[in-house]
Amino acid sequence: MPRPVANVLRRLTDAGHEASLVGGCVRDLLSGEQPIDWDVATSAPPEQTAALFPGATWENRFGTVTVGHVEVTTYRSESAYSDRRRPDAVEWGQSLTDDLSRRDFTINAIGWVPVDLGRRRGRLVDPFGGRGDLRARVLRAVGDPSRRFAEDALRLLRAVRFATRFGMIIDPATEEAIRELAPTAGTLSGERVRDELRRILSSTKAPPSRAFRLMENLGLLTPLLPELAALRGVPQGKVVPGDALDHSLRTVDALPAADPRLRLAGLLHDLGKATTLADGHFIGHEEVGAELAGELMRRLRFGRDDIGRVTHLVRQHMYAYTSDWTDAAVRRFIQRVGAGALPDLFALRRADNVASGVSESATGGAAELQARIGRQLASAPLEQGQLAVDGRDLMAALGTGPGPHIGELLAELFAAVTEDPALNRRELLLEHARARLGVSGAEAHRDARRRAGESD
Ligand code: ATP
Ligand code: MG
Repeated sequence: MPRPVANVLRRLTDAGHEASLVGGCVRDLLSGEQPIDWDVATSAPPEQTAALFPGATWENRFGTVTVGHVEVTTYRSESAYSDRRRPDAVEWGQSLTDDLSRRDFTINAIGWVPVDLGRRRGRLVDPFGGRGDLRARVLRAVGDPSRRFAEDALRLLRAVRFATRFGMIIDPATEEAIRELAPTAGTLSGERVRDELRRILSSTKAPPSRAFRLMENLGLLTPLLPELAALRGVPQGKVVPGDALDHSLRTVDALPAADPRLRLAGLLHDLGKATTLADGHFIGHEEVGAELAGELMRRLRFGRDDIGRVTHLVRQHMYAYTSDWTDAAVRRFIQRVGAGALPDLFALRRADNVASGVSESATGGAAELQARIGRQLASAPLEQGQLAVDGRDLMAALGTGPGPHIGELLAELFAAVTEDPALNRRELLLEHARARLGVSGAEAHRDARRRAGESD
């Protein structure tokens, strides 16, 4: 136990309050893992806790005072959940056992009460047999499972996360209650589902596919992620057996836990396959898939950056490189994908290939494409800002003011330079611009004369 955590416990007990470690940190310590965050339950009312820790953040409604990495919460007891989301009111509990009884699973309902903090000695308070369940690898709800899941549907998803993370089986009564209440998962707020999904995707303990398979098996996938559930039974073909859902899950597992957004892109990359199958091909599935991924992520209240990055990868994932691409084609590819997104796109393709059982050489040489991209990035102008002229140069050379024609002209010059980087010289570009404006000027003149003639 780090010293700051011991200090929090000491300060509370020295002031005459009860204080103990509870929840995930006790569970993790008992299973030999280093806890990330620390929860302390105390008999002290929130104002008194706050007074003991000047400068700590204090959230009065839930009685939680945050001291560094330690969350100190006043004993609570069961409260009513009329909306299956958040307690209507927080009721303070009388004892540690009260507080443990409102927690979700037995493994999360163990308290550690300090006896000798200097020697880090304490005793466990374990009224629901959490320690035995942890040893036997059984996930069990505290109290009446149906009631507990009915109080808060998030526990359905937390059950999946803990069962996969600790390789546990779910106790039969708990499992039955999850199946019975699974449809209520659809009422959860997007934010809460998103946070659980992130934790599942960033797990280093178990491949995420296990969690999604368990969700499907328990009836949670359809209410929570119907777009993904729709991939069940959609043919995938290729070398590896299984359907498009199996393929998507293998793709997630092949991506790094350190990048949950990229894993999400892997999970969602083929969503479009559920609706686009025709004649054995999925025409435009990357476009449809990007739309579906965007809808799903907006529903789950992901941020704009995350949504932009994931939908972009889904939309771009079908590129098919062959050695006969011209250098100009390589440059257009870099521009379409964006240099910053290329590493993710290649990682996604690698995972997609692993999941399909396709070997790299059979798909046209990722190494070759990357080498060619490297050469273009080093030598050719790939952004409009790298043109040898800018808007002001054009206005000066053409004797015009600002306007949309300048933006259009710049885009046109940039497209020409993308085809042939040798054109990126000031004189050549200005000449080209004058010629273009001359032509459109003459056209405008002709049009005006024609209109004048018609009105005669
Ligand atoms: P992790 O290691 O992923 O943080 P955790 O068990 O610490 O897992 P937290 O969300 O940090 O999970 O919650 C801390 C504790 O609060 C849990 O161990 C559990 O005792 C209790 N808890 C959290 N969410 C709920 C809930 N929805 N219903 C009941 N108890 C909960
Ligand atoms: Mg925690």
